[in-house]
Amino acid sequence: MDSKTLEDFKQKLLKEKEHIEENLAKTETDKKGVDREYETKFTEIERDPEENADEMEMYESNLAVDETMKAELEKIDAALSRMKSGTYGICSNCQKEIPLERLRAYPQADTCLDCQK
Ligand SMILES: [Zn+2]
Repeated sequence: MDSKTLEDFKQKLLKEKEHIEENLAKTETDKKGVDREYETKFTEIERDPEENADEMEMYESNLAVDETMKAELEKIDAALSRMKSGTYGICSNCQKEIPLERLRAYPQADTCLDCQK
């Protein structure tokens, strides 16, 4: 891979990383809001269990999104460190070059499509 293409992918990855970090920061703030709401709810004498269940569900799906974003962030960091060590774009499983069109669609890919299956 030539250095210009590599630089392009690097910029893409850094942008994506920034984007995810922003989103993560946002859900952190949301979670704090939900926690506070729970505290006030629990001090009330009459609670609606149905409503609490709904909120719990929302809270849990937020956590799942969080996990996905964190996993994605790890992949991006791994891709950036592969760039430093000069192994970016090489399949971690079969050691062949990952096709450029796959990297364009998913720059943090560390395996080729054959190994992905
Ligand atoms: Zn492979």
